[in-house]
Amino acid sequence: MILSILRWPDPVLTAPCAPATLSDDLARLAADMLDTMYAAPGRGLAAPQVGRLLRLFVMDAGWPDGRPDPRVLVNPRILWRGPLRATGPEGCLSIPGPTVLVERATELRLGWTTLDGRAEQETFTGFAAICAQHEYDHLDGILTLDRLSPEARAAALAQVTA
Ligand code: ZN
Repeated sequence: MILSILRWPDPVLTAPCAPATLSDDLARLAADMLDTMYAAPGRGLAAPQVGRLLRLFVMDAGWPDGRPDPRVLVNPRILWRGPLRATGPEGCLSIPGPTVLVERATELRLGWTTLDGRAEQETFTGFAAICAQHEYDHLDGILTLDRLSPEARAAALAQVTA
């Protein structure tokens, strides 16, 4: 099912999320979030973007160029952040219009729980590392806009489409 995506400045987007509990409802939400992400189209979507303040995000960093690799990360934790930083363009499904330059770690190790209750860990690099940090930020109520200078934030807001 395609869910509606909240848009800035909806206050839900800047609220911190609570830990998620595994359940059939959570599995349905994750499936709906993947449907919604691909339909948007996008490569990552966090639960608060569809109005649920839960620590859950989905991503498919290779889509649409590679093989589909849908990921569901429940209660992700950042285990390690690489020392190198890079600045690159990012869009956000909740902030339609502007692409903004955000500085991120180039490598990131995350731990999370799968929908069937397994503990997983993986080191993400390249676009997947950027995407994972962007979605992780959503769980703390942090948007790309919050990582910009006041000048860059004002310029981005001027480009937000209705
Ligand atoms: Zn976003």
